[in-house]
Amino acid sequence: MSDTTSITVVKLGGAEGVDFSAICADAAELLAQGKKLVFVHGGSAEANALGEALDAPPKFITSPSGYTSRYTDRKTLEIFLMAVNGKINSLLVEQLQGLGVNAFGLSGLDGRLIVATRKDSVQSVENGKRKIIRDDYTGKIETVNGDLLRTLLEMGFLPIIAPVAVSKNGETLNVDADRAAAMVASALQAETLLLLTAAPGLMEKFPDESTLIRSLPAARLPAALEMAQGRMKKKILGAEEALRGGVTQVIIADGRVEKPISNALDGNGTTIQ
Ligand code: ADP
Repeated sequence: MSDTTSITVVKLGGAEGVDFSAICADAAELLAQGKKLVFVHGGSAEANALGEALDAPPKFITSPSGYTSRYTDRKTLEIFLMAVNGKINSLLVEQLQGLGVNAFGLSGLDGRLIVATRKDSVQSVENGKRKIIRDDYTGKIETVNGDLLRTLLEMGFLPIIAPVAVSKNGETLNVDADRAAAMVASALQAETLLLLTAAPGLMEKFPDESTLIRSLPAARLPAALEMAQGRMKKKILGAEEALRGGVTQVIIADGRVEKPISNALDGNGTTIQ
């Protein structure tokens, strides 16, 4: 018999102020009530800080269509692994274990959980000029092994996923955490994808919080892409992917408040259906 309890995939943003302790404490309570959760986390801020400390400050690429992403050469990739898999993932698992939750940390590399295609060249715009970058280890996610995650859930674990993927040839690739969370939610046919970040949700006129959009029909996502600036754009793309993949709803909500998961599931934030 397969358990049909609905699954919530929670993406923990890495921006300043997102309260990991509050998220973990909330998760422990929700799990005790029988909820099924999967965590996906980011880690850019931590990777940037470690890069600075190791004399390899981060570099970013802006694509011709205006998306910003990390330029990931092999050295940056290794620093990313140290910060994100090494530190953030382990500390989250530690925190949850301390709360009596049997958290299971893994990345998309483990057991080929997340398979991605390496982008063989990335276009970047610098001072109005286009450049082609070829030594970049970032990927576009192709598949997520939902069975592996379902097995972990059935065994009572809380999977904690670091945003790293494996290529068909076995190379490690850096992937965007919001998009990874969207693909994980789709693979699990999750009811909710919850993107916790350092904002109360999507604002029509960022940063004016009084313009928070409470509910957004999927048809308005292209318009939302225009409103979103910087990394918020990736969340909108992730939301679109998740809904197309069969997820019932996507909520973008505040990760800086008390009980961030419960608060969002109670209807606070931007709900996209
Ligand atoms: P995370 O670490 O959670 O992935 P990011 O800091 O990368 O988050 O992206 C979320 C940020 O995007 C918000 O904290 C906010 O500062 C910014 N942002 C840009 N445009 C908007 C918008 N229209 N509505 C809300 N936040 C926005």
